[in-house]
Amino acid sequence: VEVGLSMGPILEPLTREMGMLSALLFPQQLVDSIPERPPFLVPMRINGDDVYLDTCASSSELASILGTANLTQADFQSSQPQWRRVASGEREWLLFLLPFRGAVIGQSDQQTGAQVGQLLIWRDYSDAAKDQARCRQKILLLALLLWLGMAILVYYGLKRGTSFLQSRVDAQTREIRTLADSLQEQAMTDPLTAVRNRRYLIRRLQEQQSRYERRREVASVIMLDVDHFKQINDRYGHICGDQVLIALARQLEKAMRPTDILARYGGEEFCILLPMTDLDEAKVLAERLRQQVAKLAIACPKVGERIQITISLGIATWRSGDSGQDIIRRADEALYRAKQKGRDRVEIESGSPRSSSEF
Ligand code: GH3
Ligand code: MG
Ligand code: MG
Repeated sequence: VEVGLSMGPILEPLTREMGMLSALLFPQQLVDSIPERPPFLVPMRINGDDVYLDTCASSSELASILGTANLTQADFQSSQPQWRRVASGEREWLLFLLPFRGAVIGQSDQQTGAQVGQLLIWRDYSDAAKDQARCRQKILLLALLLWLGMAILVYYGLKRGTSFLQSRVDAQTREIRTLADSLQEQAMTDPLTAVRNRRYLIRRLQEQQSRYERRREVASVIMLDVDHFKQINDRYGHICGDQVLIALARQLEKAMRPTDILARYGGEEFCILLPMTDLDEAKVLAERLRQQVAKLAIACPKVGERIQITISLGIATWRSGDSGQDIIRRADEALYRAKQKGRDRVEIESGSPRSSSEF
């Protein structure tokens, strides 16, 4: 390319089209060596004595760029394309230095192919740099917001997840507790009559024993048994027999105090623990129970007539050194005597001042 004359008109519109500006940079001695320098080739001293330039573009802008670009001799001699960003005050430029070779006006053909200068292309990068900075800020802000959003999501997600799990655990714990309570209740209840069972009675008798030992707290026990119950079963059937036992349990409960404990001891045999009740009070209750049961007229499905029953009862009161078994045994002995004496009666334990019922 014939420098200056030919490159200028080519480069200028080309680079302008691309939003860039261009200039050709030559070493001073090369320009000086041109014997008849054309008038437009006015060298401009930029960096000391090293660099001259052809004025393809605004010289003042170029001077300002090169003034801050701090180009050295090495940059001009470099055979590798280079680029760099140059900032001057508010403004910023992006520079490309492209080495070029070729014949130069006034030089012998020996110079052909040698590196003769640099083609400088630049563009104002201020807005782009600002845009870039703004963009970077936006990206940072976005990333921060994203991070915050994620953090909030994770936090609430975890919180919701945890509270959901907690509520599930609570619900299951409640269910387990209810089941455990119901199991415990079942373990202490007679399934037919829904009164307490023997296991529960034994535990309450043990408690009563320690209360008697600590505070001499009196208590009595009534053992009662349905008279000739086998005949009821035989006559009306076992289902009716069951109904009789249920009706009997309800009637006994009705006549007792809330603190008294009614338990089904076995088959058609019930036991009542009467806390804070002495022998006389127990006798009154036992007699009342006997009379009320005797008046019962129990209805039974598919049986035309109403069933009537009687019960025999034996009473014992807590004595020093008694265990639950002891008092049960004595009440049972009294019950046995009531059976022997003709049933439908109350007997008190032997060894007490009035061991025979006077009702
Ligand atoms: P006693 O007056 O001497 O007590 O005579 P009894 O017939 O009541 O006594 P026995 O011990 O000979 O019979 C008790 C009957 O109770 C026998 C048994 O089949 C019945 N029985 C025990 N448990 C149940 C039950 O849960 N349901 C029914 N229907 N019958 C029961
Ligand atoms: Mg019986
Ligand atoms: Mg019996």
